[in-house]
Amino acid sequence: MISLGCPRNLVDSEVILGSLKKRGFLIKDSFEDGVDIGIINTCAFLRSAREESVDTISQAIQLKGEGRIKYLVVCGCLGQLYKEKLLKGLSKVDLVLGTNDFFKIADLIKGLAPNKRQAVVSDKLDYLYSENSPRFSLTPAHYAYVKIIEGCSNFCSYCIISRLRGKSRSRTIESILKEIGGLAKDSVLKEINLIGQDTTFFGMDRSKRSELAKLLREISKLKNNVRWVRILYTHPAHYTSDLIRTIREEERVCKYLDLPTQHSSDKILKAMNRGTTRKELTALIEKLRKDIPGIVLRTSIIVGFPGESDKDFKELLDFIRVTRFERLGAFLYSKEEGTKAARFKNQIPEREKQARFDEVMKLQQRISSDINSAFLGKEIEVLIDEEVAGESDRFLGRTQGDAPEVDGTVFVTGSNLKPGEFYQVKIKDTLEYDLVGEAI
Ligand code: SF4
Repeated sequence: MISLGCPRNLVDSEVILGSLKKRGFLIKDSFEDGVDIGIINTCAFLRSAREESVDTISQAIQLKGEGRIKYLVVCGCLGQLYKEKLLKGLSKVDLVLGTNDFFKIADLIKGLAPNKRQAVVSDKLDYLYSENSPRFSLTPAHYAYVKIIEGCSNFCSYCIISRLRGKSRSRTIESILKEIGGLAKDSVLKEINLIGQDTTFFGMDRSKRSELAKLLREISKLKNNVRWVRILYTHPAHYTSDLIRTIREEERVCKYLDLPTQHSSDKILKAMNRGTTRKELTALIEKLRKDIPGIVLRTSIIVGFPGESDKDFKELLDFIRVTRFERLGAFLYSKEEGTKAARFKNQIPEREKQARFDEVMKLQQRISSDINSAFLGKEIEVLIDEEVAGESDRFLGRTQGDAPEVDGTVFVTGSNLKPGEFYQVKIKDTLEYDLVGEAI
């Protein structure tokens, strides 16, 4: 299997492989030396992601042509978006599955036969995996992703997620606690990353009030070796005082928040349908920093949104300069077919979008470098993720302020450090986004 896209898709991939393993299939970690079934779990969020998915499928089709893949299965968001059209466009694909159909894969694979090609893609997007869904872990044993909510009902004007994943639907707190109990039973699990399209919307589809704080308190009561409970993919419009207090008070909850702001100009935030304003964003960030000492804030920003004037962009730069996010990812606005924003006037030329992206990242590089420099000589706690290949005394790790795969790395020297263990590290050098230190 090749799993593309975000951690939410990765959890689906783990459920796909878990259900196949449970039915006796042998899971191989590459196509290279031949497989009966090749699976590509695709992403379709942006045009660039769709292109990457089609490229990956094309490479697998080539391997199929060389006899190294017998049947080719495409699932995930590209399958949901294009359905049967994918079969027509990619003649060597045998089975296409939608984002609400992948749990049927074991039975459908048993029915595969030459020239019996099909697309199983439901329009009714209501599937939710549970603690009973078998998972085949695709992450290092010491951290895992737990999807607490599926779909999204925010309908940001530039986003196609709700078409691919349906409206927001939360799992039950009981189901999530049981799943974590299962994941943590062998005691190597140290970090849980709570994910969804909008984790702060958790419970709001059933009780109009966010239940995320309650979930965090319940997770914190569980008896296991988990030390870090991290919240990813929040939405600034869905924070509550209860949530902020719970993050501060619950020791196991990381003092880290992924808070996509996307922009700061009220005109653009309105056009994006983000349901927030610069004043509200600023007030929320001030409250988070005042109420949760040492909080690390990660944000995502979109540049080049239709109608973004020089004045709007200057305001965005000013917001980034003043707010000084510890972590920031920027994206060029991508005109997505079928979205409201795609029909907006004043689309920004690609060259101008790229220039604005470069300016934002240049500014953030300075801010991040400056923030990192304050760690020089400090001793901090680091979770080791892996040993650097071929170098027995060099390791890659993360602080509590670094989510897996997206944020900074701590380059650690030390002897006999074990991946999945925490160590005190003295910082010897600081880089723009990373730190360098010695285990003590
Ligand atoms: S919050 Fe907005 S951008 Fe994020 S998945 Fe939902 S609709 Fe898309």
